[in-house]
Amino acid sequence: MQVLTKLNHAVNHDFLTGALARRALMERGEKLLTRLEEEGQSVAVLMCDIDHFKTVNDRYGHAQGDVVLQEFVVLARDALRPEDLLGRMGGEEFAILLPRTTHEQALAVAQRLCERLRQHSFPLPNQGQMHITLSIGMHSVSSIGPQDHMEQLLSKADEALYVAKNSGRNQVRQYGPMLAPSAI
Ligand code: GH3
Ligand code: MG
Ligand code: MG
Repeated sequence: MQVLTKLNHAVNHDFLTGALARRALMERGEKLLTRLEEEGQSVAVLMCDIDHFKTVNDRYGHAQGDVVLQEFVVLARDALRPEDLLGRMGGEEFAILLPRTTHEQALAVAQRLCERLRQHSFPLPNQGQMHITLSIGMHSVSSIGPQDHMEQLLSKADEALYVAKNSGRNQVRQYGPMLAPSAI
């Protein structure tokens, strides 16, 4: 790889997980939103936060916490399409942008991701395994307008995430007046 290409990759990606860095996600997302708006398209954003991640570090060590973050990104990528954007917002919080995705499709993706994490066994270095759960806040827009920017979309998904956390974690909540449980 050319030096500049490598440098560019390092700037735009999170070193630990390889997910997009926060700023790169915001910039790429914004460009994508502009294009989708011109096409009259839909979009959905998911704000994902690993539950009780501090306990993972406390119980199994920081290195195991790092492994969980890396594996989370592998599992998430596997559940996503190449055109979806996945970025690390910080710590154990990740944002996903799903272009040209209906509300129902996005909900199914979010539910599937939660389920995958719930089912996944993370092997421990000294034998044994551990499990984690994930909370997701979701917001979708059926036809993108000029007011729809990354900041606004993510802050709505974040509100829904807050409700998911306060409703017992390990679940998907969607933004809306009712912030209804998203059974599917
Ligand atoms: P909640 O269910 O409410 O989300 O609780 P939580 O424990 O997941 O959240 P909290 O914000 O209390 O703790 C997040 C922890 O994530 C604290 C911090 O030390 C840890 N952390 C942040 N970045 C990294 C990292 O890169 N590697 C590791 N191993 N831990 C990290
Ligand atoms: Mg957390
Ligand atoms: Mg967090």
